[in-house]
Amino acid sequence: MARKVLGYIELVWTCDSCGTRNPGAIRSCTSCGAPQPIDVKFDRVDPTTFNFIKDEALIRMAKSGPDKHCPYCGTRNLAETQICVECGGDLTVGATSRPAGAVIEDQSASSPATPTIQSAPASQAIPRRPLPKWALIVIIIMLLASCVFGVMYFTRMSQTDQLDATVSEVYWQRQVALEAYQVVRASDWEANIPSNAQTYNCQLRYRYDSETPRQNSEEVCGTPYTIDTGTGVGEVVHDCYYKVYEDYCSYDTMQWVVVNTLQEDGYGTNAIWPSTSLGTDQRFGDSTERYSITFSTSGEDYQFTTTDYDLFQQAVPGSDWVIEVNGFGDVTGINPE
Ligand SMILES: [Zn+2]
Ligand SMILES: [Zn+2]
Repeated sequence: MARKVLGYIELVWTCDSCGTRNPGAIRSCTSCGAPQPIDVKFDRVDPTTFNFIKDEALIRMAKSGPDKHCPYCGTRNLAETQICVECGGDLTVGATSRPAGAVIEDQSASSPATPTIQSAPASQAIPRRPLPKWALIVIIIMLLASCVFGVMYFTRMSQTDQLDATVSEVYWQRQVALEAYQVVRASDWEANIPSNAQTYNCQLRYRYDSETPRQNSEEVCGTPYTIDTGTGVGEVVHDCYYKVYEDYCSYDTMQWVVVNTLQEDGYGTNAIWPSTSLGTDQRFGDSTERYSITFSTSGEDYQFTTTDYDLFQQAVPGSDWVIEVNGFGDVTGINPE
């Protein structure tokens, strides 16, 4: 997020020795003369409003960088000063710059920028109680039961019987999709729409956030806060980003669309494909075929379904086959005798 400067405000500091509140730009206590300590804490004069400084010189000072403390007498000097205003000492070597960049927190409890801790207490995690014994026993029984069931299932699946069977009925079903090349209404971001499509009904919609302004973007900024510049003047900033809007449009495009499904079915081993005379801008699409053979054994009837037309054509009613039947009564394989 981009940090934007709104302006500069005067800060205050409290003298460690006598407790006097002094303006931030005053470098020694107005009451007892004690120099401002390097680790002094600045506060806002008025935590509820920002009274922006209009004095250009003061703003320039705030922008020039953090003040530095004389290595000889401790006096605070402006960033660009080379000789200490108090003792004449050389500030080009060994001078300590004041800390800068920290966010000055609002003192007022009612301030919305620093909401008082109302979030759910983090330490509310309920200590996990160990599972009671009966629950463990139930879990073990359920695990054992599912093992037994699994074993039984696979045993029945793999257990196959070979049976002599006769084809008693054959049935086939074939389907073909009928497609037409026609106008389809769709909608998408304008940039994604094919160039030959007819676009209409475009509307700006929020699409993404950006650090920098874009075409059709809206700036969104957070609550302003104050930064210690190290000069006794606070820089009021807020963090901003841009909500970017783009055109979302409806459009017409030509596409192949399934308009009908043609079907043929019948009893007997000779199947045919459904057909029709195609109109202009029509074609046949995907096709499916399904063949079903009913086998009779001495005891029961079994159904077998396949898509293999060659195999189906051999299943002439009355012919004899050997079929494989698993434990669930499903036919898993067929062979002509
Ligand atoms: Zn003082
Ligand atoms: Zn000095």
